[in-house]
Amino acid sequence: MEAQLQHNIYLLGAPGAGKGTQAQLMAERLGIPQLSTGDMLRAARKEGSELGQKVAAIMDAGQLVPNEVVIELVRQRLGRADHQNGVILDGFPRTVQQAEVLDQMFQQTGRSPLKVVVIDVPFDEIRRRLSGRRWCSRCNRTFHITDNPPSPLADQSRGYSCDVTGCPIEVRTDDRPEAVEKRLEAYSQQTKPLIDYYRQKGAFHSVSGVGSIPEIFDSLMSNIGL
Ligand code: AMP
Repeated sequence: MEAQLQHNIYLLGAPGAGKGTQAQLMAERLGIPQLSTGDMLRAARKEGSELGQKVAAIMDAGQLVPNEVVIELVRQRLGRADHQNGVILDGFPRTVQQAEVLDQMFQQTGRSPLKVVVIDVPFDEIRRRLSGRRWCSRCNRTFHITDNPPSPLADQSRGYSCDVTGCPIEVRTDDRPEAVEKRLEAYSQQTKPLIDYYRQKGAFHSVSGVGSIPEIFDSLMSNIGL
């Protein structure tokens, strides 16, 4: 496929801003994969791989894993054939260094430029959302006990279960309040500077992440002209 037909979209925002939920919807609508470094790291932990063991404590403490670890994961994933027609980046880059390396990767492989959208949600709302967030470790879908609960058809007699896999849904270890505060700090100090980084480059948009999931999805798509 011609490079100019690629959709390369990067969703930037604090943890709990809705990046994963919106990235999954965009990926389905556009028929291109979602690349979530958080999902990849959680999968490595579940497998019990050496990488998973190395990052577990860092993630549970709400800190960012080292740049070189995530950069290598992304380099491998972007090289896959199913990522050649575009990608929705969710949770990567998270530091200026990661963004610079990503720019180089895009240049070297002739990818179309990234469209960047910041999903803006106040921190108090983030705290409320993360305290009620539940997660399916099998398919990575997220739910919220009041805002986005699993379908009432799912068997809730043994606790809530995922609409798609039927697996019990869990509280992520890094959604505990102590870890949440660390993650918000990491966002403010290490990830937020990317807003200026991408604003200077152009192709930068900002949407409010407060509202219903379909409303935010429509606003995201129209902001990037899709
Ligand atoms: P997420 O699911 O995107 O909220 O990511 C969960 C955790 O994985 C983060 O709190 C970090 O510990 C780690 N992580 C995910 N993506 C990155 C990244 N791009 N750089 C560093 N750490 C990351």
